[in-house]
Amino acid sequence: MSASRPAERRLAIVDVPAAEAKGYLRDHGADLVGVADVGRFSRAEAHRDPRTHLRWTRSVVVFAKRVPFASATPYPSITGIQFGDFNLEHQLNELAYRFALWLEDRGHIAMPMPAGRDAVSLEVRQGAPEPEIRLTGSFDLRYAAVLAGLGQIGANGLLISEAYGSRIRLCAVLATAEIAPDAPLPFGDRLPDFCHACGYRCVQACPAGALTARPGHVEHYRCLAIRPERVDPEATLNRLVKDLSGKPLIMAAKMLSYTSAAPHPCATCATLCPMDRGRALTPDPYLREGWAAEDLDQVL
Ligand code: SF4
Ligand code: SF4
Repeated sequence: MSASRPAERRLAIVDVPAAEAKGYLRDHGADLVGVADVGRFSRAEAHRDPRTHLRWTRSVVVFAKRVPFASATPYPSITGIQFGDFNLEHQLNELAYRFALWLEDRGHIAMPMPAGRDAVSLEVRQGAPEPEIRLTGSFDLRYAAVLAGLGQIGANGLLISEAYGSRIRLCAVLATAEIAPDAPLPFGDRLPDFCHACGYRCVQACPAGALTARPGHVEHYRCLAIRPERVDPEATLNRLVKDLSGKPLIMAAKMLSYTSAAPHPCATCATLCPMDRGRALTPDPYLREGWAAEDLDQVL
C-alpha cells in the first residue's frame, strides 16, 4: 500500500508540452513566456516560494505583455496609467485566469497569480533623517521571471528583458503540471553586465535618489515620495501608512497607484533604460509624451 497522502495520490504527474502551453499564451497576447521548475525557488522567503500559494506546484509559468513605447512615459500621463498599468494588468489577469482553466481542462491544478497592485505587507522603520518602508507582494514576479529565463534584475530594481527592457508587465500561473523549464538567468549579488556598460543611467536620473548600484535595491519611501527633499517626512509617511496599511492586494511595489491620492507619476528608471530596443523606433530616445529637450540634460 502506498505511503503517500491521499491528496498527493490523487495528483497525477502528467506532462504538458511546453510548446503547447507557450503557444496558448502567445496566441492570446503574451509577448514573453518562460517556465521555471519549482525546485529552483528558494524556500527561505514566503513571497518567493510558489508553494506558499499552491503546495503541489511543479512548474511556474511566467509571462509578460509589453507596454506600447509611447505609453511608457516618465511623467503623469493618462496613456501611461491606462495602457501601462490598468489595462495591461487587466489583460494579464484575464490571460492568467484563462490559462489556469486551460490547464485545469487538461487535468492539472493551476493558480493564477495577480499582476500588479499586489502588496500584502508594509514594514515601516522610523529613521533619521527620513523613514524607511518596505513593501512586499504576495508573490515576487520579478524573481520568478529571472528563474524562468525572461531577463535579469537591473539597477532600477525591475526585470530587464532582452527585447523590451523594463517596458513590460509580468504575470504568472502556478501549476501542478510538469512543463519543460527554460534555462534560468542569474539572480544574485551582482548587477548584469549591461548595467555596468550603461553607466547606471537610471541611478543618476532617479528624481528621488531611490536607486543605488546595489542589485535590486530600491528605497521605497523615496520612490513613493518622488521628491523626498520637498516633502515633510512625517506627513508623507502618515499618508503612505494610511493608504497602504490594512488594504491587502491593493498596491504594487513599483510604479504604484495610491489608493487615495493621485497615481504614481514616475517611471523614469524604466523609460530611459537603453536595454529597451523600442528606442530604435525614434532617433530621439526622449521623443515621448512628457519628455522635453531639457530633460536630456538632466539625465545624461
Ligand atoms: S538604465 Fe542602465 S543601469 Fe539602469 S537598469 Fe537599465 S541598463 Fe541597468
Ligand atoms: S519610479 Fe521614479 S522615483 Fe521610483 S525608483 Fe524609478 S526613477 Fe526613482
